[in-house]
Amino acid sequence: MKKCILFIIIFISLSVYCFINKSKEELIYVNVNDEYKNTIYLTFDDGPSNTVTSLLLDLLKEYNIKVTFFVINKSSNLDYLISRAHNEGHTIGVHSYSHDYHYIYESESNFFYDINMMTSKVKSLTDYSSKIIRFPGGSSNTVSKFNPYIMTRLVNDINDKQIKYFDWNIDSKDTTNIDSETIYYNVINNLDKNKMNVVLMHDYENNEKIINSVRMIIEYGIKNGYKFDKLTINSPQVIHKIKN
Ligand code: ZN
Repeated sequence: MKKCILFIIIFISLSVYCFINKSKEELIYVNVNDEYKNTIYLTFDDGPSNTVTSLLLDLLKEYNIKVTFFVINKSSNLDYLISRAHNEGHTIGVHSYSHDYHYIYESESNFFYDINMMTSKVKSLTDYSSKIIRFPGGSSNTVSKFNPYIMTRLVNDINDKQIKYFDWNIDSKDTTNIDSETIYYNVINNLDKNKMNVVLMHDYENNEKIINSVRMIIEYGIKNGYKFDKLTINSPQVIHKIKN
């Protein structure tokens, strides 16, 4: 009986371990030189938004920290936030125009049409040609499975076009129903001084809870000897293993 219970416990533990490991993104490691180590790259997807982006920009200005925004098309009365972020020294990357998974992953031409629309919009607002992107859902997404191997093809196309794409190696999980403090711990518990730490966050409407998290992450980073920086076309890529 005891043996049986022990067996069940081992079986459950193994199943849980496998599940957790499977749900984690698999990363492709790139060796980075010292200049990039010990650095936190905060990245914000799905903005800009009235409620979050302006507060975030104020906070970043207070600490003189530069970050990366992967923007999408929003109403034109939010355009000033893209210009402001650019003028204040942050990187504007392109996340897509529509963020409509079904449309953009339906074909390579749809994808590049959508990306080009947003790149043109950023260019018209900032006079800057953005060469860095983040795939909606990340390069390891499985939402595109309705079109087999589209991600594999897109990654090859992107490399040919001399655009760089970036995933992340720390997921703050700020899209889930958790509080500022939990988001903060999701980030700081995964920081590594020997790596580039690319943090995934979102500045879409009503995600104000990240403002406190970002403040705490900055305070922690400064206290513990981390640098903060923005991604550029010259940054080494942090990318996931493609699953489609
Ligand atoms: Zn997104």
